[in-house]
Amino acid sequence: LVSRKVKSEDTVLDIDGVRIGGDAPPIIIAGPCSIESEDQMEQTADFLAAKGIKILRGGAYKPRTSPYGFQGMGVDGLILGNRVAKDRGMLFVTEVMDTRDVEIVAEYADILQVGARNMHNFALLREVGRARRPVLLKRGLSATIEEWLYAAEYILSEGNNEVILCERGIRTFEKWTRNTLDLSAVALAKQETHLPVIVDVTHAAGRRDLLIPLAKAALAVGADGIHVEVHPSPATALSDNEQQLDFAGYDRFEAELASMLKVP
Ligand code: PEP
Ligand code: MN
Repeated sequence: LVSRKVKSEDTVLDIDGVRIGGDAPPIIIAGPCSIESEDQMEQTADFLAAKGIKILRGGAYKPRTSPYGFQGMGVDGLILGNRVAKDRGMLFVTEVMDTRDVEIVAEYADILQVGARNMHNFALLREVGRARRPVLLKRGLSATIEEWLYAAEYILSEGNNEVILCERGIRTFEKWTRNTLDLSAVALAKQETHLPVIVDVTHAAGRRDLLIPLAKAALAVGADGIHVEVHPSPATALSDNEQQLDFAGYDRFEAELASMLKVP
């Protein structure tokens, strides 16, 4: 179902007027790694909304390497993320990690994110496939392109055609970046499927200084959008403080990409 052999024309999502894929201009999904507080979310959403960003991200359920790391605000985070987004006419995307949470996350989020660590969680894929919300499907840490596309197939096979593929870097022997951004996967996914494909530069790089060149490269190979983490104070963030952009950093990021994004 994901294949171009079945459907040759690009799938263009229209989520409350926000178009993604096909002939739509590339979109930016931005926001903090984790939803941490009302103040943090209000500040970030104010900044991004003023920049014309239409999709706000923020994790309420966090897949942390250590069980002792910040695990997210849960339902309180969902409520907060939804409110700050709606107040500014933005869409809200957040990760769902557990089949038992799909219903509540779908109540508050406009887009359900399946994270890299859950790309192989077939029960979760089926469950989001039954939800009436678009799904942002991250590529697994060590997933082949074929496995990633089959994961999308699980979602479509349950009747949900609104899937956005997201390349976010894969594990390699390289240590100077957190992951290795696989741009051939972006070009291949665009070629083999009709789905929108975006690139998460933040988790691919794991370091701020590479975000601009990686985003340019992603757009050059045809990505339909860029996912980037933005936080009012990355140094004190409760997760991913090496790679989130502060507001001045986002200004530079946007300025460098403006000609490729056609930012309004
Ligand atoms: C995230 O986007 O919040 C996240 C945890 O990313 P990934 O699943 O790609 O690691
Ligand atoms: Mn993060």
